[in-house]
Amino acid sequence: MFDLLIRNGTVVTAQGSFPWDVAIQGGKIAATGPHGSLGQAKEVLDAAGKLVLPGMIDPHVHIHHPFKGGYSADDFATATRSAAFGGVTTVCDFAIQWDKEKTLAETCALRRSQFEGQSYTDFTFHACPTRSDPETVAELPGLIAGGVPSAKLYMTYSRQDRMSDDAALCEALKVTAAHGGLVGVHAENDAMCCYYSDQYQRVGKTSPHYFPLCKHNLVEAEAVNRAIYLAKATGGRLYIFHLSCRESLDLLRTARAEGVQVYAETCIHYLTLDDTYYDRPDGAQFICSPPLRSKADVEALWEGVREGLIGVVSSDHCGFSLENKASGCNDFTATPNGLPGMETRLAALYTYGVRTGRISLPQLVALLSTNPARVFGMYPHKGDIRPGSDADLVLFDPEASAVISPEILHSPVDWNPYDGQELYGRAETVLLRGEALIRDGVCCAAPGAGRFVERRAEDMDLNT
Ligand SMILES: [Zn+2]
Repeated sequence: MFDLLIRNGTVVTAQGSFPWDVAIQGGKIAATGPHGSLGQAKEVLDAAGKLVLPGMIDPHVHIHHPFKGGYSADDFATATRSAAFGGVTTVCDFAIQWDKEKTLAETCALRRSQFEGQSYTDFTFHACPTRSDPETVAELPGLIAGGVPSAKLYMTYSRQDRMSDDAALCEALKVTAAHGGLVGVHAENDAMCCYYSDQYQRVGKTSPHYFPLCKHNLVEAEAVNRAIYLAKATGGRLYIFHLSCRESLDLLRTARAEGVQVYAETCIHYLTLDDTYYDRPDGAQFICSPPLRSKADVEALWEGVREGLIGVVSSDHCGFSLENKASGCNDFTATPNGLPGMETRLAALYTYGVRTGRISLPQLVALLSTNPARVFGMYPHKGDIRPGSDADLVLFDPEASAVISPEILHSPVDWNPYDGQELYGRAETVLLRGEALIRDGVCCAAPGAGRFVERRAEDMDLNT
């Protein structure tokens, strides 16, 4: 007798689509098999007409992000609750060393304590140093061994005192060559960012229209190129966060063909929005780094996704409110960077990717769940539907559609990039380790349902 049986659905994994039932026991997947073949359970969920997907993993989110003395609009509970409505069962946030007096280990412990008791979804984070001294980088092996095997280094934001220098990046990559793990980068050339920003400011061209011209493609590509060379020089393992343009993609293609250990994600907004948004009256809301790119770049990124060069689509969620955004007074140098995206990522990729025929359903699952799990050391506990895996599951209605507005979403963020657009597909029921977070579109969990996910360097796989 199983705890729960999901019957009559179509199970979709990165491997394919199957007319299977799924049995759950003790929070884990106990068995999968053809409809009607798995026996009895205490509870049955009928998934006829629905897709049964592994829980979505968002490997790049910023919750409760500091800004001008305050924070972005959502907190650990509200952000993860909203994410759950988007089918997300695990988020990877960042333990950013805002307080440089704290060690990285202390920074990670603080981040964990902020999620504990609050998070609806399971959670983990990337260690994010802001100091470039040897003592800070020397902490990485301990973190890798202790369940946080990925770091992120900012190659820009010197003026916000967040940048790591190239020596720190080299050293961090060297650590991953010796200990496993992964070094992610926010790749933009800092000197170019400062130089162009000053130039545009000097002539008063600071409206959102100038933002993508200021942080143009080569600002990103130069840093991607440098990071790839440093990975090559050190034998390190590199992850490129939010790759957004054709030039970076070309560098990635060459590097991977040469056997450099580099993996890349793009974000859902780089696949679905473009730089014409900056010419809208509400253009300032769309300021994020890297900027939204040209339609030609968007098409190039879809090609990169189809080729499998880009293996992950994250949200880079940052939930700034309209008030936060307006505080920049339409000046891109003063507007906080970031878009909300956790709740809409699945429907947006389904609508723009699967329904248009650009990618298949198994590819969607790979991009949003299986690959993030493999790359960041959570597989096979997360990211798949197979016996032994956590019963993190989404019953997805592919025919449901909704015109997006902040009112129909579940986030305190009072705007959404897809406002007014019809997006298809809804996560109707979402299970986390066998327990319902969302049931028939209603949240039925409490803050603290989510647990810290201890990740293992040995399980990190870049060949996916
Ligand atoms: Zn980010």
